[in-house]
Amino acid sequence: MDTLKKFIHYYKPYKAVFFIDLICAAIISVVDLIYPQILRSATNSLFTQGRDVIMKSLLPLGIGMLIMYIIQCLCKYYVSYQGHMMGANMERDMRQQLFDHYEKLSFSYYDQNNSGQMMSKLVSDLFDIAEFAHHGPENLFISLIKIIGSFIFLFLINWRLAIPLLILVVIMFIFSFTQNSRIQETFMDNRRKIGEVNSSLQDTLAGIRVVQSFANEDIERHKFRKSNQAFLMSKDGNYKCMGKFMSWNSFFQGMMYLVTLIFGGFLIAQGQMDVADLAMYALYIGIFISPIQILVELTEMMQKGLSGFRRFIAVMETDPDIEDAPDAKPLTDVKGEVTYDHVSFHYSDDDTLVLSDVSFTIPAGESIALVGPSGSGKTTICNLLPRFYDITGGRITIDGKDVSKLTLKSLRSQIGIVQQDVYLFCGTVKENISYGKPDASMDEIIEAAKKANIHDFIMSLPDGYDTFVGERGTRLSGGQKQRISIARVFLKNPPILILDEATSALDNESERWIQKSLEDLSKNRTTITIAHRLSTIRNADEILVVSDNKITERGTHDDLMKLNGIYAHYYQMQFER
Ligand code: ADP
Ligand code: MG
Repeated sequence: MDTLKKFIHYYKPYKAVFFIDLICAAIISVVDLIYPQILRSATNSLFTQGRDVIMKSLLPLGIGMLIMYIIQCLCKYYVSYQGHMMGANMERDMRQQLFDHYEKLSFSYYDQNNSGQMMSKLVSDLFDIAEFAHHGPENLFISLIKIIGSFIFLFLINWRLAIPLLILVVIMFIFSFTQNSRIQETFMDNRRKIGEVNSSLQDTLAGIRVVQSFANEDIERHKFRKSNQAFLMSKDGNYKCMGKFMSWNSFFQGMMYLVTLIFGGFLIAQGQMDVADLAMYALYIGIFISPIQILVELTEMMQKGLSGFRRFIAVMETDPDIEDAPDAKPLTDVKGEVTYDHVSFHYSDDDTLVLSDVSFTIPAGESIALVGPSGSGKTTICNLLPRFYDITGGRITIDGKDVSKLTLKSLRSQIGIVQQDVYLFCGTVKENISYGKPDASMDEIIEAAKKANIHDFIMSLPDGYDTFVGERGTRLSGGQKQRISIARVFLKNPPILILDEATSALDNESERWIQKSLEDLSKNRTTITIAHRLSTIRNADEILVVSDNKITERGTHDDLMKLNGIYAHYYQMQFER
């Protein structure tokens, strides 16, 4: 009920269309209901009147019917055009809202949900919702008017014959609904199975390079054949149910004609009904049979639509964990002093601390380096500064201002991040670089590219800065992509910088190039560097060793070498090979 109330809310902007749609639907049904009545009175008068009178009454009758059908035709046009557009408009509204909401949800949401499911919400769920939004009320209305209207006429014509038909219809309804719920189950099974086929396909295609390099095509083919076959079997169950449904329905329909003819004939023989009435009966049966099937299909549409809507609402009601505080202020005039003050943190799905009591200060414009075994929490430390996750204890400040009291947009606009994995959007090189500053001029873009040592390479591409980088930028090498991402940050020109293993995925040659760009980038910026290769951080103002969820050693390179602890051990391992 609650869901329905929320659903109705989305009709609000389209109230007028909705009501006109229902009125048109009513007119369509009424016209269908009237025809047998016209036929009846016409036949009656044709039987009783002379030829001249017939000729006279035919013309007005024809004109009347023409007008009636023109009106019905216009109504049908409105219902199928504007009605569908209303559904499509609602779909557009919901999709946009969902997209906007997805953008707000925090990292922790994305840690726990997969993007395939999110895509399906944006596409198929919303389509189901729109279909129901449009066809639901309209079909319900048309069907009810037709069924109730027909039965009123049937009772008026001859109530004795109407009763057995009513009983048959009730049985047919009950049968249809139970059968339909069985069909629904097979549909659900169908959906699951096609989902498995899709994910198997997607997984293999995404990993096709791995599949081929291990020559495991046979294994994958076998897996795929299994899910493909399972899908076929579930279709088998589905079609069997549908076949039963269809054939029984037409059997019931036949039974209605049979009852009408036999029982009606009996009534005629008894003198309780005339032949014209019997013909009307046959026409009305035709009118109420199809809405019964429409009503049954409607329950299916409603189930799909409402369950899609429930999933939609569930996302819309997931609050982003991280939002602006009510009294949040923008971060302006940043000098760049960053302080972590007894910071502790754990991920929401797990209560064990990933970080405990982490404290350090980076004076404006200086740099620190984080070193430590993989999984020790270095990336986590960096993710706390732009508030991708919120800390569970302590305080993080920029120029003495608590980051949790700043607006997210202003905070994040002051921090540049270069990571190991680079994501390039579908688009041109130029668009990808200017992502750091969408209103940048071409000169600024070129300057940034030069600083990132990628300008010459870009100029060597067929279309220069307008070269299209395919999905995920697959046409570029790792080093080239990394340099584009560095140009992006140069353009953004933030006072604070996070370099998270920016060169780890690269070969020595590219690394040397990129190291140079990164050094330029970090000049006069407060920088946190996470480095895999210790040679790259020797010159950091301070080096912090992160292990066992905390900072275990700190100092300059020379200090730490003297200390002869974890850092010195690492260093020796890397250089005594
Ligand atoms: P590092 O960057 O030093 O290799 P991370 O900061 O990525 O380490 O990870 C620190 C710890 O936090 C690891 O134990 C890791 O499993 C865990 N962790 C990292 N990211 C998440 C996440 N999104 N959700 C839950 N646990 C995470
Ligand atoms: Mg990491």
